[in-house]
Amino acid sequence: MVAGAGGVVGGGAFRAGGEALPGRRASGKYCRLPSLGHSACYISPYGDVYPCVQFPLPSGNVRKQKFLEIWRNSAELNEVRSIRARDLPTCSHCSHVGTCTRCPGLAYMEGSMLGPSSADCEKSFHRTGIPSANMLRKAGMAHSGPLIQIQAPFSSN
Ligand code: SF4
Repeated sequence: MVAGAGGVVGGGAFRAGGEALPGRRASGKYCRLPSLGHSACYISPYGDVYPCVQFPLPSGNVRKQKFLEIWRNSAELNEVRSIRARDLPTCSHCSHVGTCTRCPGLAYMEGSMLGPSSADCEKSFHRTGIPSANMLRKAGMAHSGPLIQIQAPFSSN
């Protein structure tokens, strides 16, 4: 079940007014954030609330608390909502940070919700041919600035 700020709904993610959420879109220099914890979350059949169906961070239980109390006051959901690109130790130095679909849930399952998501690193690499900051870090080639495109040498006539 997916729940939004306006109540519990099934079969998809909706805003309070019932408007379907748009897909992920680029948002300038900040990492694109999915709807998880911002306008929707996941509730398991046992009442456990998570930021997303693939983000196994327990954030409350609707059998013990009202959903709106969890939605508004859960420390875990508020932590997820507070993430900004500048807080991401690896991704903030990545040339893909403005266009990447980094999934905080997959990153969480890899060890840290502030870390990179290897699946998204691979998508960015296959889309552009440019290795991500995470790939460079793993290869021991981390650097602090954006990648510079190598220019073809001038031909002499
Ligand atoms: S490509 Fe990888 S390292 Fe770069 S922003 Fe996306 S998840 Fe982070």
